[in-house]
Parts: sequence; structure tokens; C-alpha cells
Amino acid sequence: MTIPKELPRKIRASLGSAIVLELLKGKLDAAPTTAYLMTYRKDKCNANCGFCPQARESSGRADMLSRISWPAFTTEKVLKGIEKAIKDGKIKRVCIQALNYPEVFTHLLAIVKAINQSIKVPISISCQPLNGQNIGQLAKAGVDRIGIPLDAATSELFDNVKGMSAGGPYRWENQFKMLNEAVSVFGEGKASTHLIVGLGETERDMVNAIQKCVNMGVLPALFAFTPISGTALERNAQPQIQKYRRIQIARYLILSGIGKYEDMHFDERNCISDFGVEKKILTEIVQSGTPFLTSGCPNCNRPYYNEKPSGPIYNYPKSISQQESSDIEKQMSLGGA
Ligand code: SF4
Repeated sequence: MTIPKELPRKIRASLGSAIVLELLKGKLDAAPTTAYLMTYRKDKCNANCGFCPQARESSGRADMLSRISWPAFTTEKVLKGIEKAIKDGKIKRVCIQALNYPEVFTHLLAIVKAINQSIKVPISISCQPLNGQNIGQLAKAGVDRIGIPLDAATSELFDNVKGMSAGGPYRWENQFKMLNEAVSVFGEGKASTHLIVGLGETERDMVNAIQKCVNMGVLPALFAFTPISGTALERNAQPQIQKYRRIQIARYLILSGIGKYEDMHFDERNCISDFGVEKKILTEIVQSGTPFLTSGCPNCNRPYYNEKPSGPIYNYPKSISQQESSDIEKQMSLGGA
């Protein structure tokens, strides 16, 4: 294979992905079913998101994203690893996470083309807003899905965590503009966004944001805020598991069309008090375990992205065992916010 000059020499892979791609040796409690890659650069990201160790002003480790380490490898090695892991049936999708820096689009395009040249696999890109033309070019190059993160559930929180008040380049309205653009290029449900629970929003705020995304044809994926040393938000706590479970259920109901924000009830603290669906249906949904699995693109399971394997597990990376199911039911019956 001839290596185009635009292709970056190095790329990062999440630790779990690196093990599945046979770039590192190690044991995995839950193996990723998507290969998670991240663009590599010596410097940090030009943006300054308060929760992110890649942020410009963060003193956190440059090989971290959330609580996961992302060692760098030569791109050639990673491409070979992807090819083999797909042939072996270990990997079903590749997800490329992009930092914000001037050459990022050129790098993304070159990486996508290089993967497509070696093997057929669905590719997702998670990036800051590019322009409409760039979104179209990525689709043309064979990207299957695109994610543009909102992260925060309200415009005020967004501004504090990623926008002007955080010294970042992002604007709430522009994220929605680009998400709309992405839906028109990739189709409904193929543009996604990340929402982080635990940035100071209420349950009402979060459920409202989920409904807004779904109404636009955007697929929202949920994450639990994870404090990382060296970041602006390092002292904040993770969200209470009960709050997270309620939001997972609300997301499931909205996405499956069984419920909607307008039919849900909230108490005086803006916590969900009634999902607006029959109790029997709700019980079946909780017992299925489906709402509590990692959310996102097909075959995305991100093992232990925002939790230690010892728990509490916010997003389950594989189907839920009986023990886990009874743990969840206990968490649900505890109530509280
Ligand atoms: S744009 Fe992404 S990588 Fe950059 S600081 Fe924000 S979350 Fe981190």
C-alpha cells in the first residue's frame, strides 16, 4: 500500500482497542466491539472543554480521554491491526475521535480513505463542528456516521464547560446548526451527539435535550461525567447512579417512541417522578436491561469508559447478567437524586 503524505504517521488507540488490535498484550474483562481511535498530535487540543484531559489548559495526561489511556502507534500498524481484527470477527466498526487542530480534517479524510482501502468496515467520526462542505466530503469518503458532541444539556452549561466562558471555540447554536447539516447529509439517526450526565443539569434539562435531539433526527448517546485529574472539573462528583438510571430509561422511551418528554412528570427538584407510560411496560423495559447498555452507534460498547470495572457501572458494555439486573432494580427502588 502506498502511504499518502496526508496520512498522519501516528494515531492513538484506546487501551482496550490496542489489545484487540494486537498492538499490546493484555487481558480484557469486556472487549470493545468497535476499534476506538483518536487523532494524534504532540500538543493538546486547541479547545478547552472543562471535563477533558486533552483540553488546551488541562494539566492532565495527553494520552487520556475520559478515564481511558490512548497510547500512540504508527498508523500503518493500526491499519494492519484493524484489518486482522475485522477478518477475525473481533471488531465490527471503527470510531475515530478527533481533537481540534488546524490539520484535523485533512488527517481524518486520509485516515478514512486508508481504512477503506484496506478493508470494508463501517466508520464513525466524532468531531467538533466542521463546515457543511467537510461533512459532505467525509460522507463521500465512506464515513457511515458522524457525531458532533453537545456534551452539556443546556446552552448555559455548554457555555461554561465548552464555550466562550470556558475559553473554548464552541457555540451552542452552531453545534445544532452542524447537527442539522449532518442529519441532512447522513440521514436521520446517523448523526449522533454525546450528552454527559453530571455537568450540573437537572433531569428535566437532560430529558428535554434528549427529546430535542430525537426530534431533529439526532441519536443522543449518554455518558456519565467522570472527574479526571488535571482538568477544570477534576473536583466535581460523578452523577448519582439513580439519576443516571432514570435518564437512561427516559432516553430509551423517547428513542423507541414509547414515551416522550411532554408526557413525563418531574418533581419540585426537576427529577423524573413519572415516565408517563404504564407500569407494566416500564417494568418489562427495566427487566430487559436494554436501556442500561452503552448507547451510541451500532456495535459501540466502550467498556469502562466512565466507570471502574468494580462499579458502579453506568453503561454496561455487554448483555446484563441476572445479578446485574437485580442490582439495577435495587438502584431503581432506592429513589433519591
Ligand atoms: S474538543 Fe474534544 S478533545 Fe478537544 S478539549 Fe473538547 S472534548 Fe477534549
